[in-house]
Amino acid sequence: MADGNIKIYEIGYCKHPEFMVLRGGGFKSIKFPAMVAKIAHKQGNLLFDTGYGQHFFDATEQFPEKLYALTTPVTLDTPLVERLQEKIDFIFISHFHADHIGGLKDFPDAKLFCSKEAYELSQNRKISRFFMTKQGVLPALLPDDFESRVTFIEDLEKVSLPKYLFPFTEGYLLLDDIYIIELPGHAHGQYGMVVENHFFISDAVWDMRAITHNRKPNPIANLIMKSPKVYYETISKLQALHQNNPDLEIIPTHCSHTLSKYL
Ligand SMILES: [Zn+2]
Repeated sequence: MADGNIKIYEIGYCKHPEFMVLRGGGFKSIKFPAMVAKIAHKQGNLLFDTGYGQHFFDATEQFPEKLYALTTPVTLDTPLVERLQEKIDFIFISHFHADHIGGLKDFPDAKLFCSKEAYELSQNRKISRFFMTKQGVLPALLPDDFESRVTFIEDLEKVSLPKYLFPFTEGYLLLDDIYIIELPGHAHGQYGMVVENHFFISDAVWDMRAITHNRKPNPIANLIMKSPKVYYETISKLQALHQNNPDLEIIPTHCSHTLSKYL
């Protein structure tokens, strides 16, 4: 698959103080774009995540969900569905945070792929709305017929990964030639996607400098991670991967500097 088959979009952004995501960063609020990749695959058009969507604002009108919109103010210019010319056949959901699934309801015909663990958590009625919001998950963003359209990543074919992805050794195969790799620590059931020479790592790091310059997030960010210890292990593996294979294009969802090369 040639690079020309991959197109990258910024679909909305939120603002956070820089120090949250980068140790030694400033207090100034900086922009965190939400990236979406569209892959023109021989089996159909595939999206990696959806970015924000109008549904995000509807889902955060009331408390406690409103806390999400208040703590990370979101700006959305044109929703993804209005920017795309083509029909979307498949959507890969890296994890269930609202900035990754906000546009799902705009694609009622697409087949979906996601982690079973992450989906089941989003449907767990024993979890309070407040706690779900604190985890960044807004179940109202999921279409009603989600279950009839989804294939769980855990049910895809499990494969040994090629050497160029070492130290990642095991993953899943999607649409014949796309590798799905678990990137634990940031959120429940977070997976990245390798398409040819591009590794979309979602929120495994927020800023590429965590990989290239070992600049980790401020410890205060541990509060919003599923498991800080596992999160840092995943970053170490990504650092090793980058050293072993510097030509592999690692693309975090929210790193402005990385995205500026593709937009
Ligand atoms: Zn996230």
